[in-house]
Parts: sequence; structure tokens; C-alpha cells
Amino acid sequence: MTSHIMPTYARLPVTFERGEGAWLWDIDNNRYLDAISGIAVCSLGHAHPAIHQAICEQSAKLLHTSNLYNISVQEKLADRLIEKSGLENVFFCNSGAEANEAAIKLARKYGYERGISNPSIIVTEKSFHGRTLATLSATGNAKVQHGFAPLVDGFVRVPYNDIEAIKKVLAENDSIVAILVEPIQGEGGVNIPAADYLNNIRLLCNEHNLLMMLDEIQTGIGRTGKFLAFQHNNILPDVCTLAKALGNGVPIGACLAGGKAAGLLTAGMHGSTFGGNPLACNAALAVLDTLDRDNLVDQATQKGDAISAGFVVALAGIKQVLEIRHKGLMIGIELDSPCADLVPLALSHGLLINVTNDRVIRLLPPLIIDGAQITQLVETLSSLIKARFA
Ligand SMILES: *Cc1c(COP(=O)(O)O)cnc(C)c1O
Repeated sequence: MTSHIMPTYARLPVTFERGEGAWLWDIDNNRYLDAISGIAVCSLGHAHPAIHQAICEQSAKLLHTSNLYNISVQEKLADRLIEKSGLENVFFCNSGAEANEAAIKLARKYGYERGISNPSIIVTEKSFHGRTLATLSATGNAKVQHGFAPLVDGFVRVPYNDIEAIKKVLAENDSIVAILVEPIQGEGGVNIPAADYLNNIRLLCNEHNLLMMLDEIQTGIGRTGKFLAFQHNNILPDVCTLAKALGNGVPIGACLAGGKAAGLLTAGMHGSTFGGNPLACNAALAVLDTLDRDNLVDQATQKGDAISAGFVVALAGIKQVLEIRHKGLMIGIELDSPCADLVPLALSHGLLINVTNDRVIRLLPPLIIDGAQITQLVETLSSLIKARFA
């Protein structure tokens, strides 16, 4: 049968019907261990009872009224995000790309207020910020941009994890108003920068009066072992974008701002019909409650360390494995050659993984993964990697 879906994804030949925790079942009732969580979205696993309850209760009361009116559950969610992040206010939207669009608009507005008529944002190579025109222009991947020129102006690109390159741009270009980076690059290959990279960006932003903007769409909501990845560095950015795990599968994005970024947008300057609607906000509140109640953010550290240590032992001596890196449950295993074929192979062994940047196996297991599932993940995947190089 012909599909009437635009073929924007090369989909794997499987259709899932239901899930529970870290397990998924397909329409033929085969079971799979989910080590990618719908790309870092379902951090609480599938069919979590607290999320189910939050959606049911809210849908029985009110789904949508629009932002023409006050929305109490949106206010409550904003309070929680501010309390947990240390920032000052929030714009709600429906996806990561939209959250970054809001951040980009904040940066431009900030520039105009400083009298800069052609404001530019420093972004990095191998970054990923989304698929809308502005966010694909900010993205450091030619494949994402190919075919969609003219791109949106106002981005200056530097290598990731290279403070000197940022200093050089700042010395030569007085139109820079912001720096936008991921604390750890996800799509770019689970690239973990130097421990003081974000601290140095913070210092440069202070020195040059720039907005420090962090795309925490993949790293946020506990994934790396802190609620937000910048909390490993004891700093505060001016802007922080969230989406993915915030709703555990209910679409929601957020752009958080603090300090000089918090007062830039006023009535009529930005908006979203669905953004911050009661259903999405109640699901996100349940996500935050569950993370706290079950102490899942600390567990991300312990479980990530256990998984990484398991792979270090299981893959010892295999010279084609170049590096195993992780922070919490954001895990990359870099091989010396392209390995996208491991994805369908793992699928046929009942395991969902991802490969990004051609040769990095990326694992983003749910924060609720248990010890037996961790063992199964390490054993299944390392035996597939070993068999490949035997
Ligand atoms: C997924 C992702 C985005 C885009 O989010 P969408 O919800 O797909 O628009 C942006 N930035 C990062 C770091 C991401 O991982």
C-alpha cells in the first residue's frame, strides 16, 4: 500500500502498538528494549501512570482556552521551571525549534536595544537547533541546510569546544549579541566539551555584554544527571531552551530567560496559539513531580555511569571502538567507521538504538531503566559490536 505520509524520514520497518516503562511492543507482539526514548523524549518511559493521570484529569476539565486569558496550570509550570532553573520567566511553545526561534528573537531584540542594527549570534559546527528556517540556519550541518537557501542571516559559526575561536570572532565583529550552544551536542555525536567550556562562555558573555543562550532541548530535564546541564558548571545562562523530555511525549517547548533577557519581549511581540496549553502544562507538571518524587535525576548519573562502565569492560581491547563517552544517560560510543547499519541490526535483536554523525552510537535510555534492562542493553549491543569486528 502506498503511504500518504511525506517521506521526510527513512523509517525502520517496525510499528509499535504499546509500551510500558523501557519496553515497547510492536503490532506482532514482539518486545523491544527502548534505549533511545523517542529521541530523549520519554525519559519516564512509556505509559507512565502519573502522566496518564495528568492527561486524563486535565482533559476532563479543560484542554485549551488560548493565551488571550490566564492559564493557571501554565503559571504553575512556569513557577516550577523558574524555581528549578534559577531563571526569571518563560515563553511556552510546542517544540524545540519554536523554543529556539524565541531565543533567536530575544537575541535580535537585545541587539536592537543596544543599538546594533545587524545583530549576529555565534553558533557552532555540528550543532543542531531544529528544522525551521531560522533554526536550520543556526544548525551546523550542511545536510540540514541543503536545498533550503536563502538561509536566515545573522549567524557566525565557530568550531565547538573552542573558546579561542569565539574570542577571535568577538575581536573582529562588533555586531555579535549572543552565543547559542548545546551544553553537550546531541545530534552532532554526543560531543562533551571541556569541563570549563560553558564557564568560559559565561565570562565572555559578561565581558562583551552578550546573551548566553543554551539549547538544553536534549540535555535538559535530568538527562545528564542535573535538572539542567548548565547546573554542572554552577553558572546561569541568560536564555535556556527546553522541549523533548519536558512533556514525556506530550508536545511542549519552553524558552526561559533571566536578567537582561527577561524583559525584552512585551505584549504583541511573540506568540503561539497552542503554546502552554493546559493539557501540555499539566503533563509537564507531572513530569517534574515524578522526577523529584522518584529522585530520577540522581539516578541518571548512577545509571549512566553503570552503563558506560559496562561498555568499557565489554568492549575492552576492540580497537575499532574509539571512545565511550557519557554524562548521565546521554551516551555515545564512537567507532572508527560508519555504523548506521547497527540500528536495524539491533532492532532485529529487540533493541532500539540510534547512530548519529555517521559513526557514533547514541543511547538515550529512559531515566527509569532498571538494572536488568541495563545488563540486557550492554550485553546485546556489545555482542553486536564485537561480532561486527570479529
Ligand atoms: C531535538 C532538538 C531540537 C529540535 O527540537 P524539535 O522539537 O524537533 O523542533 C533542537 N535542539 C536540540 C539540541 C535538539 O536535540
